Amino acid sequence: MSLGITALGSGSGGNSFVVHSTEGNILIDAGFSRKELIRRLLEVKVQPSSIRAVLLSHEHDDHLRGCRVFCDQFDIPLCVSFETWNYLRRQKQEKLPANIRQFLPGDKLEFAGMTILPFTVQHDAIDPVGFVISHRGRQIGFASDLGAVNGLAEMRLNDCDILVLEANYDREMLRRSDRQPYLKQRIAGPHGHLDNWDAVEALNRLLTERTKVLLLVHVSSECNDYELIRTLARAQLDKMRREDITMQVIEQHRTFETIFLDQSPR
Ligand SMILES: [Zn+2]
Ligand SMILES: [Zn+2]
Repeated sequence: MSLGITALGSGSGGNSFVVHSTEGNILIDAGFSRKELIRRLLEVKVQPSSIRAVLLSHEHDDHLRGCRVFCDQFDIPLCVSFETWNYLRRQKQEKLPANIRQFLPGDKLEFAGMTILPFTVQHDAIDPVGFVISHRGRQIGFASDLGAVNGLAEMRLNDCDILVLEANYDREMLRRSDRQPYLKQRIAGPHGHLDNWDAVEALNRLLTERTKVLLLVHVSSECNDYELIRTLARAQLDKMRREDITMQVIEQHRTFETIFLDQSPR
């Protein structure tokens, strides 16, 4: 194997993913409590001490929850954007671990032989980012909370071996939900979350011959349905004649099997 990913769970109740290279592991987000995070890591046979860094996409609690205690316990650096760090330092100091590595979106980071490129996404947080993670010519594109696949997101997420993309809500289910009108507007706005149709439509622009794995994530528990998004995405992949793509619709309450890219050189 060269590069792999394991979803520990995703949704508004908590998000975390392990990215594996031959040289070690990193986490994207730690949105579960420390105890739950460790439980899920052990369930997928990853030792917490093997984690070289935690990358934080943005400061919302479903991504940040376990970061401080987990990073402090294992002395792992939390990689956080400078603006997000600055905000947390002033407003929520207690959420920050001792070991911090700041970045600016566009800066490259290196951990466990992987090169990590954070890029700005549209979301209602201080300085939200997605990530492109590369290892020996293989690439993962990751964007879990975003209101739209804008030009920059398209440029970064296009032509990856593994694509991790949000499919948050079904428009009709959101409309019919008993959420407050302001919240519905927030979710559906350009800095909210990506709905099923926008996610599926974006596949036309993002998937290339190189893409072998698709993870759909951050699925709303109230305004979406795992089976619905699975059906929509499968229909889109069929239309694109991409039966070769392995797809996972990531759920909130369980971990998923690790997917490794094969070793053959590109
Ligand atoms: Zn968020
Ligand atoms: Zn979130």
